[in-house]
Amino acid sequence: MSLNVNEKEKDDPNYRYKMPKPELEYQGKNQNTYTIIKNMKKFADLFGHPSYCILKNIAGKGSRFDIKNNSIKGTLSYNDVLNRLYDYINHYILCPKCLKPELELKVIKNYLSCECHACSAITKLNHDNKYKKKITKDLIDWINKNGNIKRNINVQVKTNDELSFDDLFE
Ligand SMILES: [Zn+2]
Repeated sequence: MSLNVNEKEKDDPNYRYKMPKPELEYQGKNQNTYTIIKNMKKFADLFGHPSYCILKNIAGKGSRFDIKNNSIKGTLSYNDVLNRLYDYINHYILCPKCLKPELELKVIKNYLSCECHACSAITKLNHDNKYKKKITKDLIDWINKNGNIKRNINVQVKTNDELSFDDLFE
């Protein structure tokens, strides 16, 4: 079973952009519990984003996390993880204009910006939240080092012969 990348489209079976459900495992006990996101790499590959940025967003402010095994300190429920994953998606994966996950992330004049390959909008990704600013800074550093983040989400898009009749006329 897969999920729709845009939470707002979650009930649409024909929505094209799919992602796996987070697979969680819990380790440790008492004060030392960890939540491991077992398929973190899949999300990183799918979105083309560094996994530590996604993990950092899921961990949240003040939480310890370890990128070696994609673990977060504490016991996070499936819904906690999913909501924070969607929060990341809403901020960094979906186009602010058309809400399609077709963004190429780049740095323009030291700002994290995105160019949408669906609607062509170029938007500055500005976030007021302090914690988001840190993640934004991480993404800027990563892009400066590795180049633009191209959307890889297309790997999950249905091929033409799987498109429904309605898809062809949208
Ligand atoms: Zn767009």
